[in-house]
This record gives sequence, structure tokens and C-alpha cells, in this order.
Amino acid sequence: MPGMRKNDGSESNITRQIANMRWVLKNTFKKHDFRPLQREVISSVIQGHDVFLQASTSFGKSLCYQLPAVLKDWGLTVVVCPLLSLMTDQVNTLKSLGVSVATINSNTTHDERQRVFEDMLCGHPCTRLLYVTPELCLTENFRRRLLTVHKQGQLIRIAIDEAHCISEWGHDFRPAYKELGWFRKNLVNPTVPITALTATATPRVRSDMINILGLDLENLRLFNTPSDRPNIHYEVRYLADYAGDNCTAEDSQLKNLLNWLRAIQSRREARIGSEEMARLPPMSGIVYVGTRAMAEHLASRLCQSSDGTVTAVAYHAGVEATKRSQIQSTWKSSRPVQPADGRKIPAFSIIVATNAFGMGIDNPDVRFVVHWTPPRSFESFVQESGRAGRDGRAAASLVYYGIQERNFIETMIHRDTESHRVNGHENRESKLESFGKVIRYCESITRCRHELIKEFFGDFELEEMGSQLPAKEGVSVASSSPCDFACDFCKEGRGGLAKRREKMASETQMALLYADFD
Ligand SMILES: [Zn+2]
Repeated sequence: MPGMRKNDGSESNITRQIANMRWVLKNTFKKHDFRPLQREVISSVIQGHDVFLQASTSFGKSLCYQLPAVLKDWGLTVVVCPLLSLMTDQVNTLKSLGVSVATINSNTTHDERQRVFEDMLCGHPCTRLLYVTPELCLTENFRRRLLTVHKQGQLIRIAIDEAHCISEWGHDFRPAYKELGWFRKNLVNPTVPITALTATATPRVRSDMINILGLDLENLRLFNTPSDRPNIHYEVRYLADYAGDNCTAEDSQLKNLLNWLRAIQSRREARIGSEEMARLPPMSGIVYVGTRAMAEHLASRLCQSSDGTVTAVAYHAGVEATKRSQIQSTWKSSRPVQPADGRKIPAFSIIVATNAFGMGIDNPDVRFVVHWTPPRSFESFVQESGRAGRDGRAAASLVYYGIQERNFIETMIHRDTESHRVNGHENRESKLESFGKVIRYCESITRCRHELIKEFFGDFELEEMGSQLPAKEGVSVASSSPCDFACDFCKEGRGGLAKRREKMASETQMALLYADFD
């Protein structure tokens, strides 16, 4: 029976390994080619390294442990996953590809659980991938079984998905994750390699992940994709303070957004001609708002005030599930939606979503993401804005920012952390720190926004630690701007931004000045 062994690393072995990887990629996963960097990550996994991977949602992170698990025709890979929906999705996809996969979670029946355990302990498990919750990994029962599988030489790897949940400084802290250090301490002789994966992690969260999981720095391979997205144009729009006059404030913001959309439409028309444009489906976009009521309200205002240029629907947890999937499929459809009453096809199709409910939105050709109010954490900002342009084509991120909203969110963070004392003080600190980055991102007029995002996520540090970046695609290298003019700072310069930002304060002062004359 084969035991745990590392590849010899010889050239012929590597060539054979790559050929095998391609074969499994095509035949099992039905994909034609690896995305940039995927092959390098998978090779390191196969060679038995601890692997840390920080990459955006569209990277295809799960393939990096699934393919190696299938490539070997023996042994078990255990995958820790925090979300039931995510787990179910992956298990179903793997099943449809004919991979031997199992899961144990709160929905697993007693009989199924017994069957999985029996297979796991039989000495030659058929199951290649076993998806479990972090809570299961805390139980004595499961740990004992895992030790047996390891003793039998059948435990190939532990993969930890959404590994940032391990850190109290992260935005999704999950106490059970903190106990996952058990794997490294107990699965020894030989040591079972660990793969940790995440989409977003700040330097602090990252060092928690590496330390708590006990990743072996000598044997660790780090990989990351840039936290900013080169194809996204980042921009901040400064809102004037109307001194409590919310109606005027909203009207002016709505006008600003519609003007921006009209400008996009005219540029597009100039480029492809109005006849051709009439045949094209509407451009898709997401506008994130703070509350369900605001989602409903803004969706209807966008429809009313845009002369048929925009169709907008509200999308939040209060919308019934069947209606939600209907909204999604219309929105994702590449066919133009012909209005029944003979009106023209709208130029934009917008989903107005609450910040808490953007997770289920999956559409590769979102052309813009607008934050109607500043996001509450920097991690969510990067995740949400990153839903634009997942097809790699040009897209935009727009954040509306004003002093009033900034103060409001700060008050809310204080209030929320007061009422649910998850981790008391530390939790509030970490939330305020993350929102502090949003403030700095928005208020800065002296740096490229792409660079700011990379700095806040410690991309430069990761590079220093030896992480590898994928080859840049479609971005010109010889450019005098760090982002190839894909942000407002690089386009307008410090002076231009300063002028726009001034508006934020001066309107308040103006309002105070004229208040006496009313
Ligand atoms: Zn820039």
C-alpha cells in the first residue's frame, strides 16, 4: 500500500505530473486550461507543501485542492468549510462530475453519517474529498476517526476554505475556526500538509491564519492575486452635506448617478452606433445600499427618473426566494429584455442590493458596482466592488462618500458592537479599524486607489514574503500611472480630486451661512 511520500522533483517526474494534471483537468473537471497561477498552486499542493492562497472569488480556488485529491487514486482530503450553502454547491458539482465526494454537516442523516464513517475507516476509503464544518472538527469523535485514517496512511491533506474566519480581526470570525490548530499539532509523523484559502485577508488576519494553523514557514508556499483588480476603474464621488435636508441630498445624488450612467451610454453609443446599441442587452450593474427599505425606494426612483434608460429591481433577504432567482436569471440573461408595451430596451439593468445580501449574486459581466453609501468594512468593499468585471473586461467601482454618512456608520458600529458583544472590545476595534480604511480610501486625494487597496491588504508585504503573482493580462506595462489610469486619482490628479472633495465641507458652511437669511 502506498504511504505518504513526496515527489522526487526530478524533471521527468514534473513533466509527467503536469501531463497528469492536464488530463484530470480536461477529463474530470471539463476545463480546457488552467487560469494564470492555478497550475503553480496545484503543483505545490501535489508536492506536499503547506500552501497559503489568497485570491479573488473568480480565481477558482477550490480546484487547487480538488484536482490534487482526484489526481491521486487513493487517500482522503478533508475540506473545512464554514457555509452550508457553499458546501452543498461544491459537493453537488463534484458529484455531477463523477468524483467520489461526501459531506457531514447538520443536514446529514444518521445513516449517511454512518456510511461515510465506515468508508473513511475501512483502510482504503473510496471518498476522495470529505467536506465538514469547523464545529465537527472540534468533536472528540471526529478527531479520533481522523487520527485512525492518518495512522492508516490515508489522510492526504487538510484544506481550509475561508480561512480568514480564524481571526478575530477578520470580518467573519468563527470561534470554531480558532481550534483548527489541532490538525497541525496532532496529525504528525508524517505531518499532514495543510492548504489555507481565502479571498480577503489583511496582514493581521493573514498572520493569525499562519500562526494559529501552525503552517510550516520552511515548507510553506504562498500565492496571491492582487487585491485590487486591474480591469476595474475605481472612483470616489464626494457628497455635499445638505445639513439634514435628506430630500435634496438624495435628489442630488440620484441626479449625479443618472448623469454618470448617461455619460457611459453616450460613450458607448459613439463607439458602436445607436442602431447596434438598440440590439444589445442592457449593461448590468449593482448598487449597494444600507437597508431593505432603501433598496426598494431607490430601485423605484431609478426606474421613474430615468426615462426608460434604466430598469432597477430591489434584491434583499426580504424578497421571496422564487422571485429572487427570477430576478437573477433576467438580470444575467444575455438577451435584451423587450418591454411589453413597445418602449425601447433599457440601456442599464440594475440590481439594488443590501450590503448584507450580495453573496448570492453571481454574474461575470457586471459592468459597474456602486456603493450608494460607504461600505462598512474595507474587506466588504473589496469583495463587493470585485463583483464587477469578473469576465476581465473593463468595469467600474463608484463609492459615494459624505461626512454625514461617515459619522452615521461610525455611530452604528459603536451601537451594534454594544448590543451584540461578540468579542467585546476587540471586535469593535477591528470593525472600526476596517471602517477606518474605508475612510482613508475615500478621503485620500494623494494616492492611486489601486495602490491603496494593495497597501491595505498587505500585497506588498506578501510579495516580500515570496508570494507569487500571476502574469498581468492586458495591462500595459509601460505606463506612467501605477494603474494605467484606471482610477480617479491617476486620471484627475491631486488638484482635481481636491476640488471635488472640497464640496463636501463647503456646502455645510454655505448652509450655515445662509441659514440666518431664511
Ligand atoms: Zn491609479
